[in-house]
Amino acid sequence: MESFRSMPKVELHAHLNGSIRNSTILELARDLGQKGVIDFLDVEHVIMKNDRSLVEVFKLFDLVHVITTEHSTITRITKEVIEDFASENVVYLELRTTPKKNDSIGMSKRSYMEAVIQGLRAVASFDVHFVPQTKQVASSFNSQFMENSLNGSAKKKIYVRLLLSIDRRETTIAALETVELALEMRDVGVVGVDLSGNPTVGEWDTFVPALSFARQKGLRVTLHCGEVPNRKEIQQMLDFVPERIGHACCFCEEDWRKLKALNVPVEICLTSNVMTQSVSSIDVHHFADLYRAQHPVALCTDDTGVFSTSLSQEYSLASSTFGIDKADIFDLAYKAISQAFADHKVKDEVRKIFSSAKGQVS
Ligand code: 5GP
Repeated sequence: MESFRSMPKVELHAHLNGSIRNSTILELARDLGQKGVIDFLDVEHVIMKNDRSLVEVFKLFDLVHVITTEHSTITRITKEVIEDFASENVVYLELRTTPKKNDSIGMSKRSYMEAVIQGLRAVASFDVHFVPQTKQVASSFNSQFMENSLNGSAKKKIYVRLLLSIDRRETTIAALETVELALEMRDVGVVGVDLSGNPTVGEWDTFVPALSFARQKGLRVTLHCGEVPNRKEIQQMLDFVPERIGHACCFCEEDWRKLKALNVPVEICLTSNVMTQSVSSIDVHHFADLYRAQHPVALCTDDTGVFSTSLSQEYSLASSTFGIDKADIFDLAYKAISQAFADHKVKDEVRKIFSSAKGQVS
């Protein structure tokens, strides 16, 4: 496990509110319990439960969202999530979150996202690189980085890019609002949009106008696809030809043929798929077939908090279950860089980090 922790990694599928530390959720819930907003004893066992079905996972998300409504909490959890990924040597992170509106506490989708950006800025123990480089930013960052290196205080670097998620409960108008916001926030690292949320809720047609608009404006699109059996929707999603899809658990032969012909990369979340019983057991996970077929895949965590995992653990699990040695896992991580939604400059920087670490992989 330690060897997977120390190697550089790329995370392409991580939900902010699913990646909160258990200790933080418990602390926040206890605090709200004391204020009488929730009944702590009622929610404690929901938070601490280890094996959750897909339905229970979405119940937990509803609870998490009650606990994380304050702007300051959003800032705190963003900071902690970045620190956790950076400390296990994730060097490129695409973090996704659903911008939330809550009039009763004066939260708009924009103010929610501003709180997320505050969280990125609040990380002090790592160099968080999230603003796309203009020449000026690049040179001031580089001189700062060089200065740190020279006085021996160079911090580990993590590139972060953001995806705004559209929740399947949302209307067409609400989804369009999220895309508008994503467009306005491109200068603070937003690179794309995601469609997620309870897969048994909502219709594909509701989201097409927003997703098409996003694409037309140059944002990249990833879709949660095939988490539950829904032939029609899987086909519709593949016909849209997203830049990536997540999960792909309930595909039939024809869906696989189409996916492979289109060469759409798949974000693979092993622990999440097994825990939610979207896949019956790890040894029959579709990752094995995609990997053998050299289809583009990226190992991801989905929700480190909800599924008590980490990217190092997912790499270790893939290695032990499918007999992939460390050098090939390193290659798998390296190939995931090309599936990232960041620009070429960032990808080249990340490749350099991998190149300098390659010597340590045996
Ligand atoms: P947030 O967007 O609030 O930062 O992160 C939590 C949200 O991500 C959940 O409420 C849900 O909408 C979405 N999410 C997290 N994990 C999954 C998953 O495994 N499948 C789907 N479809 N959505 C998920």
